[in-house]
Amino acid sequence: MSLFVQKYGGTSVGSIERIEAVAAKVAAFREAGHDIVVAVSAMSGETNRLIALAQEIQDNPDPREMDVLVSTGEQVTIALLSMALKKRGHEARSYTGSQVRILTDQSHTKARILDIDVARMRADLDAGRVVVVAGFQGVDEEGNITTLGRGGSDTTGVALAAALKADECQIYTDVDGVYTTDPRICSGARRLEKITFEEMLEMASQGSKVLQIRSVEFAGKYNVPLRVLHSFQDGPGTLITLDEDYTDMEQPLISGIAFNRDEAKVTVAGVPDTPGVAAKILAPIGAANIEIDVIVQNVAADATTDMTFTVHRNDMEKAKKVLEKVAREIGAREVLTDDKIAKVSIVGVGMRSHAGVASKMFTALAEDNINIQMITTSEIKIAVIIEERYLELAVRSLHKAFGLDKV
Ligand code: ASP
Ligand code: MG
Repeated sequence: MSLFVQKYGGTSVGSIERIEAVAAKVAAFREAGHDIVVAVSAMSGETNRLIALAQEIQDNPDPREMDVLVSTGEQVTIALLSMALKKRGHEARSYTGSQVRILTDQSHTKARILDIDVARMRADLDAGRVVVVAGFQGVDEEGNITTLGRGGSDTTGVALAAALKADECQIYTDVDGVYTTDPRICSGARRLEKITFEEMLEMASQGSKVLQIRSVEFAGKYNVPLRVLHSFQDGPGTLITLDEDYTDMEQPLISGIAFNRDEAKVTVAGVPDTPGVAAKILAPIGAANIEIDVIVQNVAADATTDMTFTVHRNDMEKAKKVLEKVAREIGAREVLTDDKIAKVSIVGVGMRSHAGVASKMFTALAEDNINIQMITTSEIKIAVIIEERYLELAVRSLHKAFGLDKV
């Protein structure tokens, strides 16, 4: 007898047929004696459809009204799923985020959960009911509907599991677990049995799209065991858990390889090399609300310096504009941009206790003649910026070099 919070994503509830299949699955858990709280997404495509409707009226509609609008997607799914459960003879009750009382702050469209009232859910569970909660949404202290940001149903699932002290938060999706890398790019990719919160967080923020980043942060913070599973295929999935649950013996050096094509490179070239120039260049970028990722600065023979950093591709033109003005002010030569880049990262807590990981990575890339343009590291990650056209080759080489290929 366990208490599971199960989150089903948009594709898992994308049609009446699938909702019926989810109901059958939940029913089987009930029949095995488990208590179940379900968090669901909107049917696949629905949130996008709602956003598109709003944009027919206005480019940037009022965020409060956006939340009223997009939260309706999940409300449809909870009702349909509860009906399908009742049809199967299982008592179920659906609740919107505000009915449960998932209290959030007031930042519409990207609200954070502050508190969850578990009383109503507990009473239902005690009465033998399945509780079906709308993901992605909450309510602020004034009763306004809020939403948690795209992909936010994962966070709802984890937050419910934390509040209810569930035995596990199970994220059911259209893949059967977390992979060493994207199987569409690397045929040797394998499903991981387990991975730590920290690693998953790095994987997610470096481009792996299995889980919403915030849900992983939340799970780590409250130590909620998370499991990613396929909605309609049997299998153990991938368990995301604490570091301590590993023994040293089984700890791999690298757990996975993440990548993304979301970034672009911006270089301010020929900058007079004097104290304070980095701040002069980066402050207006920050003020324009542009996030910076990797930074390098190199000094040229003529005592000027080039400062290069990456921004999101969507921000490249904006960054260029801002910097052209700065360049004139500080007497820099020019501003260059390049969006034909990609970032490849190796991630693993095993790096902490092993030297030589970076050189192994760089050697593997060198053997394939892939030039590294920029490097950034954290305790459990090494990321490089390379030319975009070498991305797939780089991922496959690294996957092999670190022994991650299927045996
Ligand atoms: N329906 C929302 C979205 O599409 C939330 C979610 O699916 O997690 O972003
Ligand atoms: Mg989703």
